[in-house]
Amino acid sequence: MRILVVEDERKTASFVRKALQTEGFAVDLCTNGADALNAAKSTPFDAIVLDIMLPGRDGLSVLQLLRSQKNSTPVLLLSARGEVNERVAGLNAGADDYLPKPFELSELVARVRALTRRTGDNKSTLLRVADLTLDTLTHRAQRAGVEIELTSREYRLLELLMRSTNRLCGRMMIIEKVWDYDFDPGTNLVDVYISRLREKIDASFEPKLLHTVRGMGYVLKEQT
Ligand code: CA
Repeated sequence: MRILVVEDERKTASFVRKALQTEGFAVDLCTNGADALNAAKSTPFDAIVLDIMLPGRDGLSVLQLLRSQKNSTPVLLLSARGEVNERVAGLNAGADDYLPKPFELSELVARVRALTRRTGDNKSTLLRVADLTLDTLTHRAQRAGVEIELTSREYRLLELLMRSTNRLCGRMMIIEKVWDYDFDPGTNLVDVYISRLREKIDASFEPKLLHTVRGMGYVLKEQT
């Protein structure tokens, strides 16, 4: 379980980090909103502890940006003010929980644990290859925490490839399982869908995961 803590006050940040680490969480620390957004983009966190009062871009605006980028990582907002308005604004912006300062570290740890448990409930439905995830319950795909929109056919193709990770998927097998044809329609249907999928899951990311085995088919794997 990896947690991102975003807090500019060094003392608070280090207390929070230590408390979470003691409970077995891996913790990354950011001291401003821009760094937090970059970190959340490149690493899939299990939860984010986000202070509202930050230099530059404040926590609420970081949260709004995350949600507008379809990043659905659970967020616990910290606030020095603890006003009702701010709490409402935070929850409206997409926060999952809210903790006014000063707080007990044990309280913070309990809240973070609850947030990660909530995402953990769906674990059995989540397929993962490197930083690419596919939820077979909700049909949501993400790479490096970025939401990927799939058509239903693309979803079926990706699910097949992810369930067969590191194994070759032949063209005929793909045609049977994704299109339910028991004959080769003799078109470049598979190639077209593979290149669409590649555009979505690989084009803007490293390392490339979807590989062509010339004359044979395709394989989804982390290393070439
Ligand atoms: Ca602060």
